[in-house]
Amino acid sequence: MGKIAFVGLGVMGWPMARHLASAGHELRLFNRTAEKAGRFAAAYGGLPCATVAEAADGADALVTCVGNDADVRQVTADGFRTLPDGALFIDHSTISARLALEIAGTNPRLRCVDAPVSGGQAGAEAGQLAVMCGGTDAAVEAARPIVEAYGRRIVRIGPAGHGQLAKCVNQIAIAGLVQGLSEAMAFAVKAGLDTEALLDAIGKGAAQSWQMDNRARTMVEGKFDFGFAVDLMRKDLGLVLDEAAGNGAQLEVTRLVDGYYAEVQAMGGGRNDTSSLIRRLL
Ligand code: NAP
Repeated sequence: MGKIAFVGLGVMGWPMARHLASAGHELRLFNRTAEKAGRFAAAYGGLPCATVAEAADGADALVTCVGNDADVRQVTADGFRTLPDGALFIDHSTISARLALEIAGTNPRLRCVDAPVSGGQAGAEAGQLAVMCGGTDAAVEAARPIVEAYGRRIVRIGPAGHGQLAKCVNQIAIAGLVQGLSEAMAFAVKAGLDTEALLDAIGKGAAQSWQMDNRARTMVEGKFDFGFAVDLMRKDLGLVLDEAAGNGAQLEVTRLVDGYYAEVQAMGGGRNDTSSLIRRLL
């Protein structure tokens, strides 16, 4: 068991850190709002630190789950001052592949793994996240015993940045699908169908999806106060569209859906689950 500096005790990071504490790792904690680190330490152990540099000093690994590129820049600028040579930097934030590549390229003394996750809060709480890793084989293998505390599926996709690119693919696939499901369920409601009977009939056929299994009913009920927030989805789709502008991928549907999410934000739904796309249609 190692000495781990953990930064970012939010919706995702808090349960991840809890799993690390249960696995017996020695935790040094830092969070922008310091009170959270104190609260975590009181409940599960670990040492709250005043800065990232203090947390990273002498650590075997710096593990982060913060918001965006700017946050990761801030955390690494401070933390890399004291993180020892050869230590792991495992970043679970969803950020640009460009920044992940830059961090790995400019810090060859560290073993960097970009490791965005899928599975949401429920996946983090249950320790069942899917983790898409970019980095050298050796770095990903060294990270595995740590990430296994909360990861059900940990896959090396390729070199630095490829974890973040895989997360882009994940979000592209979700965006179009959720709009399709929204249109399907809105049609069902307007056609006066019994949606329970409908889902019973089609839920195990070719139209089945995780979104249908887990979101179709709450969409019809108008329940969106849980899950993956529209604001975060828009941040991710921004990363996707930036990346596509560089690699030439044509994302007509994704671009449309990003605009629909902007409409949901304008309706006050920035914190709604992504399934709230149906609000535009009903
Ligand atoms: P969150 O609840 O906002 O948590 C982010 C945490 O990081 C907060 O506790 C925040 O501190 C802290 N933080 C931000 N910037 C910091 C900095 N510069 N220094 C130290 N701490 C900092 O967000 P989340 O939902 O856990 O998401 C975290 C990342 O995972 C995001 O990149 C997101 O896109 C990704 N993700 C989220 C989900 C999901 O379902 N929520 C699913 C997959 C991936 P404060 O307490 O001050 O805000």
